[in-house]
Amino acid sequence: MAETEKIVPVLLPVAVERAYSYGVPEGMAVAPGDIVAVPLGPQTRIGVVWDGEGEAVARGRLRDILDNFDCPPIPVEARRFIDWVSNWTISAPGMVLRMVLRAPEALGPPVPARGVRYTGARPERITAARARVIETVSDGMAWLKRPLAEAAAVSPGVIDGLVDQGVLEPVEIPVPPLVAPPDPDHAPPELTEAQADAAAELRKAVAADAFSVTLLDGVTGSGKTEVYFEAIAAAIAAGRQVLVLLPEIALTGEFLDRFTARFGTRPAEWHSDLTPAMRNRVWRGVITGEVRAVVGARSALFLPFPELGLIVVDEEHDLAYKQEDRVIYNARDMAVVRGHLAGFPVVLASATPSVESRNNADRGRYARIELPERFSGTVVPKIEAIDLRDHPPERGAFLSPPLIAAIEATLAGGEQALLFLNRRGYAPLTLCRKCGHRFRCRNCSAWLVEHRFRGTLACHHCGHEERRPQACPECGTQDSLVACGPGVERVAEEAAARFPEARILVLSSDLAGGVRRLREELAAIARGEFEIVIGTQLVAKGHNFPELTLVGVIDADIGLASGDPRAAERTFQLLSQVTGRAGRAGREGRGLIQTHASDHPVIRALIAGDRERFYEYEIAERRSAHLPPFGRLASLIVSATDRGLAEAYARALARAAPAVSGFSVLGPAEAPLALIRGRHRFRLLVQATLDIDMQGHIRRWLGAAPAPRGSLRVSIDVDPQSFL
Ligand code: ADP
Ligand code: ZN
Repeated sequence: MAETEKIVPVLLPVAVERAYSYGVPEGMAVAPGDIVAVPLGPQTRIGVVWDGEGEAVARGRLRDILDNFDCPPIPVEARRFIDWVSNWTISAPGMVLRMVLRAPEALGPPVPARGVRYTGARPERITAARARVIETVSDGMAWLKRPLAEAAAVSPGVIDGLVDQGVLEPVEIPVPPLVAPPDPDHAPPELTEAQADAAAELRKAVAADAFSVTLLDGVTGSGKTEVYFEAIAAAIAAGRQVLVLLPEIALTGEFLDRFTARFGTRPAEWHSDLTPAMRNRVWRGVITGEVRAVVGARSALFLPFPELGLIVVDEEHDLAYKQEDRVIYNARDMAVVRGHLAGFPVVLASATPSVESRNNADRGRYARIELPERFSGTVVPKIEAIDLRDHPPERGAFLSPPLIAAIEATLAGGEQALLFLNRRGYAPLTLCRKCGHRFRCRNCSAWLVEHRFRGTLACHHCGHEERRPQACPECGTQDSLVACGPGVERVAEEAAARFPEARILVLSSDLAGGVRRLREELAAIARGEFEIVIGTQLVAKGHNFPELTLVGVIDADIGLASGDPRAAERTFQLLSQVTGRAGRAGREGRGLIQTHASDHPVIRALIAGDRERFYEYEIAERRSAHLPPFGRLASLIVSATDRGLAEAYARALARAAPAVSGFSVLGPAEAPLALIRGRHRFRLLVQATLDIDMQGHIRRWLGAAPAPRGSLRVSIDVDPQSFL
């Protein structure tokens, strides 16, 4: 029989380049996409039957599939997506599959809960406890045992006894649906004319039922969300599933409320903060089609939707879409790929589109819809620079006199001020006044950041934390440590001293309480419960704070100083977004930017309120430097616990680089973050022209190199966003 046994390829969620072949036992039917259990070495693993033929395996070595789960298959578009992402990111297809199979308990149907119901029979002997149970269940409803025992104030044994006597009968209580299907007609908004035109365009894209990308480009507060809700309504009405990606889970709170108001039900959520039970339910709901709308973080892109008909990527320019470990990908770009492979529209929304998306729109590859005005006619805030050379803060302080005056005026008017500084903690560097000792991380080439609320010094790269000592560990002097530079906690301290009456909130991702607390704090700000908010980039993103009229940027130069090719773009986006928080809901807003570089093109474009000037400048710069999107980059990080080993391997790789026209390799150079978590890092940067197969060359190049041994690791980042 063995010769005629059917053999199929099964892709496993492990780091190997190909699917393995398995036999199909008699009586089992399998098709591509089926989720199966197979033996791998001594273990049982879950995998997916892949497409194509299984390979002949030497007799006696072929192992059989153990089980085919009672679960709909991973759809063909999702399988092609896995192949594509693997190919693009130069990672093993199994590692991409791992991102899809994220809910191990979701592979069987949900188990109905066991409950009991009253049969009407009388117990052999009535006791007070039994009488209470009978009274409780005489409503005829099915009860779960524990709530019944609690309601009747009896021990579970009393209930079991009544079951044995036939007074209660066991019943199965089906699992209630996770979420109701969204109703596209629940509460349609009244759109402005510009919004209605934009919504009509998007509805047309959905009706076309074909791949398209639309850049929804509108200033903050212009109603982009309202508009793409109409695209969602159209897709839902057409019987398709929809996915909305948001960069920050803390943001989803407000989003969920708005979605619920529009569609009469909440969407399912998908992000790292879900309980395992909830993950399983959402995953299964998506693959069975029970869940029609998902709002999620970048990983939601890998959910196994069988009927996906629309993806919206909100704040499409946001860095949070880039996953930086294992499979390194940008969810914005991969969303476009998923739409392309499955033939449905993708909407990218932003007030400050990425240079890539903007260029695609300019060249006609993407459609572009503009919403140039804020809803309710509020004008975009007036932005001014405060040149710190002319208006220096007091010694040891960070608020300049003009900013202090503006805060005073804002508070006097009963409004809110937001102070933005993209630095967590109290101070980015601590040193000893006496001997100059600086506190650095023992695992990383990074300073330790003081967190005064927690009383610690922390590394933001590896998580290492130590208590802030009283004396210098180097020279032993007492109370000689000084904080250098500001973090949000330090600005809060200064604001509290200046404005003792004001209610002040520090909003930062590293404070205790997690997402729930953040959501509550964001809602409290929106209700006007704080007069001064001091925050990191968390506050820059998509919230509506009706009372907020002043945004002060503490240090605009932080981002501009980095050697990153996207530094100008990032700074422009971040500062536009954060100053865009000022002045909604009919109040005029003002943005004040503290800087030493008021002549920088980015700062000048911000002050002039001239986005076009920024894009022209930045696109010209990129074009002349052959940087993305006019050329392609990939970074290779070679790391090892031994510095010499990493360096030698990186050098050998550079020597073996392919000599192909349009493909050049820079480096190796020690990475700016030369040491992370005890690993020494060297970078190679590949620069390629658009017309060659960069990934193909890299794959062949690395494939021919000696395999990295021991602690050596090579990680590949195609289209890197970080150059550290
Ligand atoms: P964006 O996503 O462009 O920042 P939003 O969709 O969040 O804009 O809209 C900004 C604010 O204006 C929100 O509070 C929203 O409810 C309100 N808004 C926008 N358009 C309308 C409309 N047509 N009717 C009622 N409210 C609207
Ligand atoms: Zn560290």
